[in-house]
Amino acid sequence: MRDPFGREITYLRVSVTDRCDFRCVYCMAEDMTFLPKSEILSLEELDRVCSAFVGLGVRKLRLTGGEPLVRRDIMTLFRSLGRHLKTGALDELTVTTNGSQLARHAEALREAGVRRVNVSLDTLDPAKFAAITRWGKLEKVLAGIEAAKQAGLQIKINTVALKGVNEDEVDRLIAWCGAEGFDLTFIEVMPMGEIGGDARLDQYLPLSLLRSRLAKSWTLDEIDHRTGGPARYVRVRETGGRLGFITPLTHNFCESCNRVRLTCTGTLYMCLGQEDAADLRAPLRRSEGDEALIAAIQEAISRKPKGHDFIIDRRHTRPAVSRHMSVTGG
Ligand code: SAM
Ligand code: SF4
Repeated sequence: MRDPFGREITYLRVSVTDRCDFRCVYCMAEDMTFLPKSEILSLEELDRVCSAFVGLGVRKLRLTGGEPLVRRDIMTLFRSLGRHLKTGALDELTVTTNGSQLARHAEALREAGVRRVNVSLDTLDPAKFAAITRWGKLEKVLAGIEAAKQAGLQIKINTVALKGVNEDEVDRLIAWCGAEGFDLTFIEVMPMGEIGGDARLDQYLPLSLLRSRLAKSWTLDEIDHRTGGPARYVRVRETGGRLGFITPLTHNFCESCNRVRLTCTGTLYMCLGQEDAADLRAPLRRSEGDEALIAAIQEAISRKPKGHDFIIDRRHTRPAVSRHMSVTGG
């Protein structure tokens, strides 16, 4: 599948639920209204859509959320999608998780064919962790990460850089990831969904600033590791670990975008930072065959926009898009 700008679409991210056991301050409002079950695709329907994308050339699938591992029976979906790894139609099946349920699912993920997991973790301080997630328990997440490591999964830690909250911990996170053998990626906070007041402006820490600060304590060697995604990587010479920066605000990454995003209601977003979307649920439910679904996917890809227009400054404190990150899963 090629979009109008010549970009090949080989990566589908699927938010399998909008629900979550945390309420991270940059991601959700404290008081969220979640979708009624009737609007949400069943696991069988999710499998059908994902498989249609694989048939159209998608090589990488990531399940995300909300928190994907809180969805009931989610391992059934991982296991069934794993069949595409066995046939060679799919290169990678992976997950982005907050880690809270990883301890009980790590082994099953590995058995389903998952080899790498992204775990979001913004701090190693239990009190700060509870404040950022509004009620999460750090020790549970650390136990989940340990279980994933024991199960032989490669781990990448995703850390949202938050001004005045975890800026003072970046060195500690780099050292910890280096020692544990985890990759680490810092993410700029993105203006998605209403989270109350001017919070976003207060949270925003430009990664260009962070990177120049880091360069004072660490030797950051440029490497040309690319995942086709937004992250730009360096190698931290002192730890040997890989460090990525996702900088939608200070450096726009859209020219190499290879992905689209499906929500748990079957809405396809062609760009994380735009409102335009295509409904795949209606064609999916209209017939048992996949012709209408495939036609709807192809039509959607033909209008993938060139890029996003994220801005955060004093004049732009409103979200660039109204949905929260948990709708599309980042
Ligand atoms: N619950 C899972 C987790 O936290 O990893 C998966 C979904 S979460 C929405 C995916 C990623 O988006 C997490 O790494 C989270 O930190 C990040 N995220 C959420 N809201 C964000 C925002 N407004 N700006 C930047 N990153 C955000
Ligand atoms: Fe939940 Fe992930 Fe959003 Fe945090 S970032 S509230 S863990 S979906």
